[in-house]
Amino acid sequence: MNIETIAIHAGNIVTDSQQPAVMPITLSTTFQHQEESLIYSRANNPNRMALEQVLTQLEYGEDAAAFSSGNAAGMAVFQALEPGSHVIAPDDMYHGLRNQLVSIFKGVLSVSFVDMGNVDAVAAAFLPETALVWIETPSNPLLKIAPIEAIVKVAKSHACKVVCDNTFATPIFQNPLKLGADIVMHSTTKYLGGHSDILGGALVTKQKDAFWGRVKMIQHTGGAVPSPFDCYFLCRSIKTLPYRMKAHAANGKGVAAYLDTHPMVEKVYYPGLRSHLGHQVAAQQMKDFGGMLSFLIKGDAAVADNFVSKLHYFTNATSLGGVESLIERRAASEGPDSLTPPNLIRVSVGLESLEDLLLDMNQAFQ
Ligand SMILES: *Cc1c(COP(=O)(O)O)cnc(C)c1O
Repeated sequence: MNIETIAIHAGNIVTDSQQPAVMPITLSTTFQHQEESLIYSRANNPNRMALEQVLTQLEYGEDAAAFSSGNAAGMAVFQALEPGSHVIAPDDMYHGLRNQLVSIFKGVLSVSFVDMGNVDAVAAAFLPETALVWIETPSNPLLKIAPIEAIVKVAKSHACKVVCDNTFATPIFQNPLKLGADIVMHSTTKYLGGHSDILGGALVTKQKDAFWGRVKMIQHTGGAVPSPFDCYFLCRSIKTLPYRMKAHAANGKGVAAYLDTHPMVEKVYYPGLRSHLGHQVAAQQMKDFGGMLSFLIKGDAAVADNFVSKLHYFTNATSLGGVESLIERRAASEGPDSLTPPNLIRVSVGLESLEDLLLDMNQAFQ
């Protein structure tokens, strides 16, 4: 099956005698004891099985684990490591996961934050106890590109696991498992959900090995699992993911090109621009560049806030990946420890008419 067909048909398992075309929601938390039956909804339920099936196929993996948030998915990976392990993570890692490593896992795991665009810096960070390399590409909020294959090569020479946060690229534009990564992570809250109304996370593995066994044990014993409703709506959203992503990428390209020549803009961060630092690598490992971008407006935080407040179609809100365009001055969301420049504006380009979006930006710049 090609990706558009997988998105629609994978996991849609109908066992109901009335034969509905779409798999129904099973809300029951418990199941009648029978040979091979499900037991209890925290351990597994039909809608989660459907979701994990479609995610597995979209990422070309062997198995998946769905969680109640992207942060819970990431945390399951950190919890599966032996205490005392060392982790190599991006210096611009998603702040929620970075906070887990530095505060929740303080004293349990040690971490080196490195520039993942620089393979020599990654190679130099290995310690005898390094057990995991965490990649996030494109990164948040600077859209930095990490060369997945090159990092995997270094990590494998140290017998290390590689996990890739693929939230920005989605399985439509990038398949880290095909490039050698062991596990892919998603915040399904973003593009996979796609309508800013579901919180969720997922891991997909290339291999059902012992480490994966621990991850699955943490999923059902830790219990940070998604509800049948969340799983159902995610499966429904995923059906349109390939087409939404094509449209997000087309609009993203249009907004990036517009901003790139605007006199009020100092710099645009979008992997599809030739001037972007990781453009070459992105062009190799991604099928398209997606709908996320950031830019530096000429001026200070107040100028940035004023621009954002004048927009009509871009909602001033955090998060990304929905059909509606979202915009925020990123440093304001990341809090006082943020290393993000105060005039950096992050945009999740939605699926409105590109013409309307550009007219809206034009009036806000005036
Ligand atoms: C949002 C996000 C997360 C965390 O996911 P939640 O669903 O908010 O817990 C992790 N990584 C990236 C890149 C994200 O954008």
